[in-house]
Amino acid sequence: MNVHEYQGKEILRGYGVATPRGIPCFSVAEADEAARELGGKVWVVKAQIHAGGRGKGGGVKVAKSPEEVHEHARKILGMTLVTHQTGPAGRVVKRLLVEEGADIRQELYVGMVVDRATQRVTLIASSEGGMEIEEVAARSPHKIYKVAIDPLEGLTEQQAGQVARQIGVPEGSIAEARAFMQGLYRAFVDCDAALAEINPLIITGEGKVLALDAKLNFDSNALFRHPEIQAMRDLHEEDPAEVEASRFDLSYISLDGNIGCLVNGAGLAMATMDVIKLYGAQPANFLDVGGGATPQKVTAAFKLMLRNPAVKGILVNIFGGIMRCDTIAEGVISAVREVNLHVPLVVRMKGTNEHLGKQLLENSGLPIIAADDMADAARKIVAAVRGTVEGSPAQGEAA
Ligand code: GDP
Ligand code: MN
Repeated sequence: MNVHEYQGKEILRGYGVATPRGIPCFSVAEADEAARELGGKVWVVKAQIHAGGRGKGGGVKVAKSPEEVHEHARKILGMTLVTHQTGPAGRVVKRLLVEEGADIRQELYVGMVVDRATQRVTLIASSEGGMEIEEVAARSPHKIYKVAIDPLEGLTEQQAGQVARQIGVPEGSIAEARAFMQGLYRAFVDCDAALAEINPLIITGEGKVLALDAKLNFDSNALFRHPEIQAMRDLHEEDPAEVEASRFDLSYISLDGNIGCLVNGAGLAMATMDVIKLYGAQPANFLDVGGGATPQKVTAAFKLMLRNPAVKGILVNIFGGIMRCDTIAEGVISAVREVNLHVPLVVRMKGTNEHLGKQLLENSGLPIIAADDMADAARKIVAAVRGTVEGSPAQGEAA
């Protein structure tokens, strides 16, 4: 789960990680009030969306007067901010962070992730702050430093000090940078974070070390331990289809392809996606209806997949273990009728009551393409979708 920059900073301040003073705002009037309350001569008005690259997209503006704060807030609130992370559709800005302006002398990068290879939290740091770390990694990998942190020792003074020097923190700010990184590590572990990225971390004209930006992501499986973080969830920032899926207790992830897949079991879902790719097409989603799928759940799953206009065909792949194939067949039939399905549908089912399930599908009179095994199913749905894309009558041809 992601949180907004202002929420991330709030969490980090609790661990002694310094940030500029700032106030979240939901309206232009609140931004005016925030500028007054913060005082000073320079402010920064920042769009709060769950995506990076806001600066380049016009979502971060420096204001030199309260009037400019007002103007920027008016323009940014409600705008559709497009960045390389939002995709071309962009994201509508509903919240702002108004901060005191910082006197930036140096922009650095500090991040933390859980590294599966070392099974440790890894600190990643670079002198190249303000740029995308992926770009730095591609162009100048020698400018990236990594430390795998021992879970028993934590991030030591010595490690933190060494990294601070490597990325060019001036001598007078080393102690502060060390405390900053150690605070970030404590926050990371305490809050069960999966990712923390401070880009940029800045050294001010006075040598202070501040988090100018903060991106935190938390392990969803540990959220039950952190109700205060859970309360920060902003559903508006999440894929509406994924939010809807969680209401029906369906595991659903949107992907870029055009073949919707409805499967029971995460492993089978992964294998189904692989086999679709093997036959030269791309899955439009990952969707696991789980072990206890009812016809209502299957209908909800069809509706979810069809919300995605890119979906040009659906592959249902069910293994009937605890789940009986006839139950799934009933679900599929009622879903197809209810949603008035307009794309080709291939169904492959194996296991308990398989024949009964197939019989039900056949007797339904619906244009459902039956398949015997996974390869057959993938081949058929890929052919059917190609048919639709090329504008020929796909269902008849593939069946
Ligand atoms: P991102 O583009 O979404 O990563 O948003 P950031 O919060 O990282 O802001 C983008 C850039 O805006 C930063 O790299 C800074 O160069 C600039 N910026 C942000 N806050 C301030 C500030 O207080 N003062 C000045 N001068 N620049 C700022
Ligand atoms: Mn940033």
